[in-house]
Order: sequence, then C-alpha cells, then structure tokens
Amino acid sequence: MATIDERRGPEGAATHEVFNQPPPLEGYNAFDADRVLTEALRREGADWAEESARKLGAICGRPQTIRLGVEANENPPKLRTHDRFGTRIDEVAFHPAWHELLGLGVSHGLHALPWREPKPGAHVARQAMFMLLGQVEAGVGCPISMTYSVIPALRVQPELADEWESRFLSLSYDERMVPAPDKKGALCGMGMTEKQGGSDVRANTTTARPLNGGGPGAEYEITGHKWFFSAPMCDAFLVLAQADGGLSCFLMPRFTPDGERNRIHLQRLKDKLGNRSNASSEVEFRGAWARLVGEEGRGVPTIIEMVNHTRLDCAGGGAAGMHAGVAHASWHAAHRSAFGKTLIDQPLMQNVLADLAIESEAATVSALRLARAYDESSPAASSASRPGATGSDEGFKRVATPVLKYWITKRAPMHAAEALECLGGNGYVEESGMPRLYRESPLNSIWEGSGNVQCLDVLRGMAKNPTSLEAYFGEVDEAAGADARLDAAASELREELTDLDAIESRARRVVEWMALVLQGSLLVRYGDEAVADAFCASRLGGDAGRAFGTLPPDVDFKRIVERHTPAI
Ligand SMILES: Cc1cc2nc3c(=O)[nH]c(=O)nc-3n(C[C@H](O)[C@H](O)[C@H](O)COP(=O)(O)OP(=O)(O)OC[C@H]3O[C@@H](n4cnc5c(N)ncnc54)[C@H](O)[C@@H]3O)c2cc1C
Repeated sequence: MATIDERRGPEGAATHEVFNQPPPLEGYNAFDADRVLTEALRREGADWAEESARKLGAICGRPQTIRLGVEANENPPKLRTHDRFGTRIDEVAFHPAWHELLGLGVSHGLHALPWREPKPGAHVARQAMFMLLGQVEAGVGCPISMTYSVIPALRVQPELADEWESRFLSLSYDERMVPAPDKKGALCGMGMTEKQGGSDVRANTTTARPLNGGGPGAEYEITGHKWFFSAPMCDAFLVLAQADGGLSCFLMPRFTPDGERNRIHLQRLKDKLGNRSNASSEVEFRGAWARLVGEEGRGVPTIIEMVNHTRLDCAGGGAAGMHAGVAHASWHAAHRSAFGKTLIDQPLMQNVLADLAIESEAATVSALRLARAYDESSPAASSASRPGATGSDEGFKRVATPVLKYWITKRAPMHAAEALECLGGNGYVEESGMPRLYRESPLNSIWEGSGNVQCLDVLRGMAKNPTSLEAYFGEVDEAAGADARLDAAASELREELTDLDAIESRARRVVEWMALVLQGSLLVRYGDEAVADAFCASRLGGDAGRAFGTLPPDVDFKRIVERHTPAI
C-alpha cells in the first residue's frame, strides 16, 4: 500500500519552502552592535560606564527580553477602581512582563544613576542605557524617566528630599501597593495637565488648602483633577495646584502618613495610540494629602527642573527609536533579495538606508552631547552633589534642550514610517515590531511640551538669558572652518536671529535650523566622515528632496549603511 509521502505533514502536501526571509534580529549585544552609541558614550565622558552598558546591551538583545516588550504591549494594564466588596482601591494591574522590564531598568539604575553616582559622565551613561532599554520597550521609560527627573525638583525642599530620595534612588523595584516607608524602592510620577489646558498650566483649576498654616514643606489638601496622569501606580507624584499664593508644586504620596490610601481616585485609563504597556490615567483628587515643595506661587519654576530632565529623555527616546528603526531596516535589507540582488546592495535602497542612518546618527550624537550638558551644568538644587559640575554648560543646556526635544522627536514619526517600509509588507505586520515603533513615535513630541511649546521655549530662553545663545554658538563654532556648508548655515542662522519680526510664527523654522546647525557641527567633529558629509550636503546644503532616500549620488552609501547595520 502507498504510504504518506515523507515530505507531507499531517495537513497534506508540502506547498513550499520558506526562504529569503531574514532571521530575527536577536541574540546579540545591543550596545556593542551600536557603534554610534558606543563612540558617543566614550566621547562624552562616560567611558567608565562601558561595562554596565555592555551588560545591559546583552540583556536587551536576548530573545527573552525582546519577548517581554511584546507581551507587555499585548497585555495592556487594567484599571481596578474597587475591590469585589465595593471598596475603592484605585489600582492598576500589569502583566508580569511589564514588571520584569521595569525591574530591569530600576536594577540598572536608569531612574537614578547620576544621583547615586554623581560624577562626570553620569547623565551620559544613564542616557545611553535608557536608550538601550527604550529599544526593547519604550513604555517603562515613562516612570523611569519621571523618577530620574524628580530629584532636582525635590531638592528644593530639603526635608522632603531627605525623606524620599533614598526611596527613589533604590535599585530595588517593589511593585507592591503599600506605603512607601514599607517598600524596598519607590517611583515617582507627575501631574500637571488638566482638561482645560496642559501647555498653559496657569489655567489649572485644582486647588490646594493648607492644613496647618501652610508654607514650604507644609501639609495641604488638594482638590481637583488631572486629565493625563501616567504611571499612576507610582508611590508619589509631583502635582501642580492653585494655592492662595498662586500655582504651586506639591509632593503627593499614594498613602497618607497614617498608612491610609490617599484620596487619589483613578477614573479611567486612556486608550492610547501607542505606549500601550504603560498606563496613563485620568484622576480626581478628593482632598488628597500633599506637601508643598518650594514657595507658594513658585510651582512652575520648581517643577521645571523635573520637566527639563524628562525633555532630555524625550530627545534620547526619539534617538533610540530611530536607531531601532535603522537596525531593523538594514538587517532586513541585508538578508532579503529582490530582482537578483540583496536589498542592501540595491542603489536606491542604499540611499534610503543611508538617509535614515544619518538622521539616526545625528540624533544619537546630539542627544548624548545634550546629556553631557546635564553633567556639566549645575542647577542650584543639585550642584552640591555633583562634584564634577562646573556650571559651564548651563546656557547651552537651556536652549539645546528644547531645540533637540523639538527636532529629534519631530523627525521620529517620518523616520519610523520609512524604516517600516524597508521591510515591505512584513513591516506593516505587528510581529515585526515596526508597527509598535511607529505608534510610539509621535509621543515624545507631544508630552513634556508639544512642538510649538518647545519652539516658543527656545525663544523665551534666548530672550531671558542671552548668554544661552552665545553658549549655543560657542558649541557650533567649535567646528568653524571644517565644512563650508556648515559655516554658511551658521552665518545664515545668525542673520535670521537678528531679525525679530514675526519671530513667533517663524519659530519652527528658526528652531529647526538651530537643530540642524548644531547636529552638523557635532557630526563634522565627531561623526563618521561620510555621515558628516552626507548630512551637510542634504540637511545644510539643500542637496536633497523631501522624502528620505534623496541624498545626492556622490554620498558614500555603502560605508554609511555598513556602519549602521548590526554586525552580528
Ligand atoms: C500618553 C500621554 C501621557 C501623558 N502623561 C502625562 C502625565 O503623566 N502628566 C502630565 O501632567 N501630563 C501628561 N500628558 C499630557 C501632555 O504633557 C500634554 O498633552 C501636552 O503637554 C499638551 O498639552 P494639551 O494636551 O493640553 O494640549 P494643548 O496645550 O491644548 O495644546 C494643543 C496644541 O496647541 C499647541 N500650542 C499650545 N500653546 C500654543 C501657543 N502659545 N502657540 C502655538 N501653539 C500652541 C501645542 O503645541 C499643541 O500642538 C500626557 C500626554 C500623553 C499623550
């Protein structure tokens, strides 16, 4: 009798062989494979952190870790407002993958490193590692970033810093919903945005009533709401509310000092475009207990130190997404053939990949240079604990933060879309990871101040502190004479900035140009030669079209693409 053909499975005849599909990009060291990040870490003063970054890079490249990011997104958090007996609990239940990823970030100090080890290069080291984890899953970056950023704001009120800092700096992630003093480690969130306005926080209607006379460090009762309140399972939040003296900043813990749940009532979780592993809630404060940080009426200047650090993370997060996009796009192209040649050898694909690569290199190089400015500037509240800080980069940091937050995050969605397309139809399919990258990509541009708000902040920074513009040009001029296109662009920018007519409506043009000139100056000095040349030709010299993949033909495509393809 005839037997079943050996090549036939139980479902019938074999139909085809699978070939010309790339292997998964996994099982590698995500730090070592990223040449630009490795070079920038060393250059910007964090060579001492190389081993830690390498260890984290190895973990981030493991298939099991990559899988955690997928699972955390496939199983988004669920709100539990009440227990089964009807008592309010205001908890959010997360998938174990979320906890594991957040624990990974916390155990590597991504929420605390520069405050735990205040030495030159600490913000750079932390930023580089934050970027590594962000490529596995960006959602956990939210509580990590807010906890990192709260420290300088909290130090405005030393007794509160004394009480909370060691909790926030702990390397133990403790997911339990118990009072902070009983926990091995704590995380911090922030609540500024209300329904009637987020950018314009002066419109906040949430009120603060002093319980015992009020004043810095004193107890208040907060009543009102927040329209966006991310990572609501954090142990404490910096919150803005209107006190008698004006808009003020408060530290609001999840539990009151007597161990009761604070009256922080979670109303709903947002159904978001991306960032789905992370919970972003709507919340009401029904007489919630909090303590004033700084003076009444000084809420914005107090919380702004926190916001600046999260803006740095938005720039770094945008750069991380771009790197992930280029890595996946070039990996795919290196393993996929069409029309008789691997995609990576097709001239037009080389142009697309190289264009994506130079955008990514510019973003990483500039984000880590900005991180160094956080090492070398010395905000009053934190200088005491940063022995290496000279304060020399304060002016540069003031304008470069909104300039780079604006431009890197503004480029990210277009970049992600083009990187996705390099994978063809596979890129549009969830399993490739590219849809998640794409959905995440507009977020860094929105939160912590949307695009227009960043541009207006650049204008405000330059007007209030003219030395910040000098510091910016001081950095740009380090590359003077190295590239004629850069020199011409820098002088055009100087000219543009002398004209204040209609400056508000011109702000995006001006800030975009500031970002490009700065990135050009950094790449000319520190980037790969071919990358710097292609950047200056296309971004500063105007020799390019509007889409990615329109670099001039004399660019050294092969070299640029090779530099950015994960060498595994
Ligand atoms: C997923 C997610 C999570 C978030 N988590 C938090 C959180 O944890 N805590 C928190 O406090 N907030 C959070 N936010 C809120 C976020 O910071 C705000 O949405 C953002 O700052 C914009 O504020 P808005 O939504 O009120 O928009 P608006 O302030 O109304 O701005 C709308 C648009 O107008 C523009 N605009 C505003 N002012 C001007 C002007 N003067 N000139 C020109 N254009 C202007 C803005 O750039 C924007 O494009 C979160 C947002 C998202 C999407």
